[in-house]
Amino acid sequence: SEPNIPGFVTLYQTWESFYHWYIFRRGKDTLYRAINSVPGAEMDVMDRVTDDHYWTFRYTGTSTRVINFGSYNYLGFSQNTGPCAEAVEKSVNELGNAICASRQELGYLQIHKELDDLVADYLGVEAAITVPMGFATNSMNLPALVEKGCLILSDELNHASLILGCRLSGAQIKTFKHNCMEDLEEKLKEAIIDKQPRTHRKWKKILIVVEGIYSMEGSIVKLPDVIRLKKKYKAYVYLDEAHSIGAIGPHGKGVVDYFGMDPKDIDIMMGTFTKSFGAVGGYIGGSKRLINHLRLRSHSAIYSSTMAPSIVQQVISSMNIILGRDNSRDGIKRINQLKWNTRYFRRRLQEMGFIVYGNKDSPVVPMVTFSPAKVVYFSRYCLEHGIGVTVAAFPAVPLEKSRIRFCLSASHTKEMLDKVLEMTDKLGDTLSLKLSRKEPAEY
Ligand code: PMP
Repeated sequence: SEPNIPGFVTLYQTWESFYHWYIFRRGKDTLYRAINSVPGAEMDVMDRVTDDHYWTFRYTGTSTRVINFGSYNYLGFSQNTGPCAEAVEKSVNELGNAICASRQELGYLQIHKELDDLVADYLGVEAAITVPMGFATNSMNLPALVEKGCLILSDELNHASLILGCRLSGAQIKTFKHNCMEDLEEKLKEAIIDKQPRTHRKWKKILIVVEGIYSMEGSIVKLPDVIRLKKKYKAYVYLDEAHSIGAIGPHGKGVVDYFGMDPKDIDIMMGTFTKSFGAVGGYIGGSKRLINHLRLRSHSAIYSSTMAPSIVQQVISSMNIILGRDNSRDGIKRINQLKWNTRYFRRRLQEMGFIVYGNKDSPVVPMVTFSPAKVVYFSRYCLEHGIGVTVAAFPAVPLEKSRIRFCLSASHTKEMLDKVLEMTDKLGDTLSLKLSRKEPAEY
């Protein structure tokens, strides 16, 4: 939904032609190098994390205090003074810094088993396996699930780790239009044409791969439709809940909880600990049969060391808080606060006239600037004035669909949200990013 403004359209077309000409003449590598040599595109070094969700950011030689609107600390569990800190410190003292061995080689401690069981319990499935890295959870487990002779139907906007996992599997991959159930059904129909009725003879398996919340779009998967189609066409579903687990649903249990569905309808439930749980790593949940298979077949389980005890403890503590097992209402308060912050922030941006992508409950808030030049100016200006936002630009999104991405957290106070909204409003006027202004509503 590009705006019908002549200035924007011209800019858009100019960029598009430039992009195609450049790729054609010089190849993709040159374009990457050119983008990285733009002043300001070098890596910023973060100084330290303070307890109140501020960063101290070393920017052009000075130390500026920056409100963090760029990290996925959805429930505010990543702070080192948070409710998990004491247990995490205790685990280092008792179990050491690291394990230095894989599951198969004496690296599976009682605390790892406790986490595997807790994740299964949290998700409402029979079993789960945890992996030290979210990216590897996708890229190393998908190849253990499908192979040559299988068909993968993958949403066109799936994350790089899913794409890599699909490619490594050797299965045939077909993409369907983002969140478009008609296109998915079309591809499913095509897949079973010429085959014996109601069987998938040609394909050993058909696997539909989707995400819960898409981090570049802020959109939520149409899960009820995906499940309906998978049942109708006898396919399997792989659901990546990296951005939705903990972040949405009345109990913080992701899209399954959001739509009030039965977790057992999803064959393979994947998620990461890097967002809502303030840690690092990932998991796969499902039937006992599935998890036993992955224990024996997944490269991430066999050839990779297990998670450090402190990280495991961080996930255990934050999960227990979300589940209310610490006998407080802290978890539910965080979930509700995140929901309020998300709805408030999105509504205010829309009222100001910005183009905001995604679902009203998605804490990832992409705001479109179209022009790559404007997106860089926006983020650098914010940084200099104490606000850290992320730039979603080429190659993560198409060059001409550049956007600013705000990541909201239960830790953000109303004052912080208003400060960012005020600066965005001002920059929106300077850079002509707004379409029309609506009257503010009551909150
Ligand atoms: N899946 C999705 C949908 C993601 O967005 C990401 C990264 N943000 C990952 C997997 C990889 O997770 P991690 O950063 O924990 O390695």
